[in-house]
Amino acid sequence: MINITLKPKKEETLKRFHPWIFSGAIEAIKGTPEEGDVVRLVDNRGNFLALGHYQIGSIAVRVISFDDRPIDAEFWEEKIKRAYELRLALQLIHGANNTYRLIHGEGDTLPGLIVDVYGDSAVMQAHSIGMHHARTAIASALKKQVPDLNNIYYKSDTTLPYKAPIEKEAGYLLGGESTGIAIENGLKFHVDWVKGQKTGFFVDQRENRSLLEKYAKNRSVLNMFCYTGGFSFYAMRGGAKLVHSVDSSSKAIELTKQNIALNFGDDNRHEAFAEDAFKYLDTIKDKYDLIVLDPPAFAKHRGALRNALQGYRKLNAKAFEQIKPGGIIVTFSCSQVVNRDQFRLAVFSAAAQSKRVVRILHQLTQPADHPINIYHPEGEYLKGLVLFVE
Ligand code: SAH
Repeated sequence: MINITLKPKKEETLKRFHPWIFSGAIEAIKGTPEEGDVVRLVDNRGNFLALGHYQIGSIAVRVISFDDRPIDAEFWEEKIKRAYELRLALQLIHGANNTYRLIHGEGDTLPGLIVDVYGDSAVMQAHSIGMHHARTAIASALKKQVPDLNNIYYKSDTTLPYKAPIEKEAGYLLGGESTGIAIENGLKFHVDWVKGQKTGFFVDQRENRSLLEKYAKNRSVLNMFCYTGGFSFYAMRGGAKLVHSVDSSSKAIELTKQNIALNFGDDNRHEAFAEDAFKYLDTIKDKYDLIVLDPPAFAKHRGALRNALQGYRKLNAKAFEQIKPGGIIVTFSCSQVVNRDQFRLAVFSAAAQSKRVVRILHQLTQPADHPINIYHPEGEYLKGLVLFVE
């Protein structure tokens, strides 16, 4: 295993268990590691610090172990066992719910790895070459540790670093036949992990959707950026008067319609439209008294922060202008680089522009199966506000 020596004092973040080493912290590399190799990090006196996956880029190493141990089948099994036991303790694995995130990168001390489970199927994404190289070992460990798993779909063709000199890959590592139906809090969803976005479904909104259900009774609901319709189903079940689902992707709208039919049959309270959010929101004066705004990440990196904040302000300003008095806005940001205060400030500016009385009812975050490693605050990405608008 190749040793990487850090510059003096650069070991301090590792001693506080932060799992990233930036390239500027490196003093010397003994040998020439390939991207994705497991390397040993040592301080400038040669003392062991951690093991991690080597990467080319500003983050040079992502730590997978603070113990000096072999990275073998037992290693992957232990990690997955612990993650599975946590989800069991969270009561996410039972009849009415079989959809959960099993591995959440740094939050499960496995930077670069995401695994979502839908009943008997797991969808795995590698965001680093190190995890890509380990994919078959990880799949074997999943098979061993997660009961009743029949399919493992590996989907890393869009998530691996752009410049990596490897073949991008998507396909089954186990099984290959599944109904593709996931159950979340008793609601059924077709999940298309092969063609859909991310792992096929946004598992991270489960609790926020449940909260919305409580507020939906007799309301006219707009679910903007609906994707496969998540928030719409909960609104329907919660007794909404009408539910309109909007997304710019016509494929997403098709999936939403299918999913509504799967749960509610031919229920004419629901309609779905393939339209652009910014245009649609200009034409809905007093039409809705519950609006959900769950846009894609407006900023994927630091450089895009300013524009992203403006985007959130503009989007929310439209909702404040249009919503019926006494209405509720449920608004989110899933951009990792936008922090909670920045998002709140953007929404505050939007509210002020509308001159309406606005009160914060709830402050929302990601659910417990997307845990935040306390040593890696960057892991907190989902922020939401429930607002009452007079
Ligand atoms: N709320 C969803 C997840 C939203 S993901 C859920 O609970 O599952 C973001 C969605 O925004 C994607 O489906 C994407 O197609 C859609 N989108 C992106 N840009 C858009 C735009 N300008 N107008 C409308 N929808 C847009």
